[in-house]
Amino acid sequence: MKVAVITKTKAPVVFEERPLPKPGPGEIRIKVAACGVCHSDLHIWEGHFDFAKLPIVPGHEVAGVVDQLGPGVTEWKVGERVGMPWIYSTCGHCDACVAGDDPGCARQEATGVSKDGGYAPYMIAPAAFATRIPEALDLAEAAPLFCAGLTVYGALREADIRGGMTVAVQGLGGLGQLGVQYARALGARVLAVTRSADKTDLARRLGAAEVIVARDGHPGEALARRGGADIILTTVHVTSAITPLLAGLAPRGSLVMVGAAGEPLPVNPLQLMVGRARVLGSVVGNRKQMREVLDLAVRHDIRPVIERHRLEDVSRIFEKLGRGEQPARAVLTFE
Ligand SMILES: [Zn+2]
Ligand SMILES: [Zn+2]
Repeated sequence: MKVAVITKTKAPVVFEERPLPKPGPGEIRIKVAACGVCHSDLHIWEGHFDFAKLPIVPGHEVAGVVDQLGPGVTEWKVGERVGMPWIYSTCGHCDACVAGDDPGCARQEATGVSKDGGYAPYMIAPAAFATRIPEALDLAEAAPLFCAGLTVYGALREADIRGGMTVAVQGLGGLGQLGVQYARALGARVLAVTRSADKTDLARRLGAAEVIVARDGHPGEALARRGGADIILTTVHVTSAITPLLAGLAPRGSLVMVGAAGEPLPVNPLQLMVGRARVLGSVVGNRKQMREVLDLAVRHDIRPVIERHRLEDVSRIFEKLGRGEQPARAVLTFE
């Protein structure tokens, strides 16, 4: 089989011919139908993740079918639809694991980061960490839900979203588009905050009640004029664009970050004190939340906006992602 490999940071992605992998005890082999290209894959390539184990086959938004069962696997049947998220496995024994908090495990392996992932027609996965994909979802559309979908859903849960809340979603890229849809599905009134006026129609189509174009004045004050947001979900990478939004938090509101990378976030403590506000971060989610993400997608018709590509297009997609010019979620499809 032909796989894409990151051998060294910033070196061209290499295509290698490899034998089909064999599932060991407790493992399944997935015939990959689709794998999303996440911004984190670019971070691995750029060398921002020191926990990545190169050479690696990237890809942690995997959707496909079970192709072969390793010894002892009873919970899966060959032919079932299956997906793999970022978390490949956890230790199963630490306090976080015992509490069901997969992202809290310090001894986790990550799909396509420390274990070979889905930029390949076949991959191995631990049976216990794979999640069933409902028949109603197209596999290519299901793939981005395994990272982008879980990330925004996990963040909204982390910020204690409840029906009737006002949720502002900043940024309308792959994460933000799903953020609008999941916040809406969870019963919130959604305000979208974007720099690009041309995304207004898209945001409304996805379920935003109102769209605030950040270029036309102060986005935080614009939120405040609308009564403030109980939750601000920010998906952007530029922290200087996040700070102004704090002025738009309702009392006891939460700003939850899933996009920012590297730069410090300037925050005036007084603003947090007076508003009794919280600033928090969130990363992926647990396996139960992964099931909820897929279930909500079926019940509320949540779909990512995707662009289908071939494995060979990876380098070109990375370049476009790096320049911020990849408009929809790129999904690699096989066959
Ligand atoms: Zn990801
Ligand atoms: Zn653990």
